[in-house]
Amino acid sequence: MTMPETIAIIYDFDGTLTKESSLNYTIFPYLKIKPDEFWELVNKEMQKDNADWILIFMRLVLEIAKNKKFKITQKILKKLVKNIIYVKGIPQYFERINTYINKNFKDINLRHYIISGNLAEIVKFSKVAKYMKNIFASSYYYKNGKPVFPLLAVNETLKTQFIFRISKGREKMYEPVNDFIEHSKRPVPFKNIIYIGDGLTDIPSMAVVKNNGGHSIAVYNDTDSKKVCDKLLKEGRVHFIAKADYSKGSKLEKLLKRIIALIIKNN
Ligand SMILES: [Mg+2]
Repeated sequence: MTMPETIAIIYDFDGTLTKESSLNYTIFPYLKIKPDEFWELVNKEMQKDNADWILIFMRLVLEIAKNKKFKITQKILKKLVKNIIYVKGIPQYFERINTYINKNFKDINLRHYIISGNLAEIVKFSKVAKYMKNIFASSYYYKNGKPVFPLLAVNETLKTQFIFRISKGREKMYEPVNDFIEHSKRPVPFKNIIYIGDGLTDIPSMAVVKNNGGHSIAVYNDTDSKKVCDKLLKEGRVHFIAKADYSKGSKLEKLLKRIIALIIKNN
């Protein structure tokens, strides 16, 4: 008997599964800071120190909280996460697509993953977390229950490392990811990977997946993000674009089913 074939759908989080950046529903209102003001600050520091923007974002969250005397703990984050607004069809879509695969393709093992630059604490406490095989996101090192240093800062190019980890079955940070493993011997060959993201920070991931024989989709929530998607399609960074709508019968759901059927047919 052959091993069941694994197909992985990898999602970005903010703007892909959530309507706006999840920070807009959680940390920013809690710290009483406007998103525009915060990102302007990140930008300024980036220019001043020539630093990585995810590290600046993680540091500023802690600094602003400290200055304003707001505590950031896992418990508080867990509570804030309840305010997140998801895009249409989330989370019901996950149950539906899993049932669809189980019913129609018994030999296929469908996995869902999230790779996000945002805080792991937010993503892991969100209501989509339970559908995920694994979540890769930026996270803090906690000392006495307090975040004090970054453990992992997931910028746009580090995202691609996790795609290789998923493909090679080396999902723990201590597992060597650079060993050569033939595609046919990988738990999830690239041709079985579908990447869904909403924006510029997903470009390296979309390109890595597409250029290695996988499938990339850019999703949008409004006319501005549609423009970004149109550009990505025109530049050949993605195969498809669709509205971030995962509801029953949506264009995106149909597209995903079509890609899955194509992967199965070509294997
Ligand atoms: Mg995003």
